[in-house]
Amino acid sequence: MAEAEKKTMTTKANNSRCAVCGGELQATTITHEEKRGSQIYLFQNVPAKVCTACGEIWIDEEVLQQIDQLIEYGAPVRKVETPVYDFPRAIAPAH
Ligand SMILES: [Zn+2]
Repeated sequence: MAEAEKKTMTTKANNSRCAVCGGELQATTITHEEKRGSQIYLFQNVPAKVCTACGEIWIDEEVLQQIDQLIEYGAPVRKVETPVYDFPRAIAPAH
């Protein structure tokens, strides 16, 4: 399965069935986005489970804890600048 590009639902998932629809979960890796205040942290190749029925993505509690640890103490492989737009200001004509 291709790496998921959509927003990730971060939820506990220690079971093998989707808690939303009861569908079968399949192991995958995703790019996970974690927000802390105004800072956004990206995690690539995060182990996750995707529901084969509804497409919901689940991340194990243990993995979420590791992500928390990485935000606190981890060393990122690289940093990216995130473009930020204030929508009303962005579409207003420049003066
Ligand atoms: Zn499901």
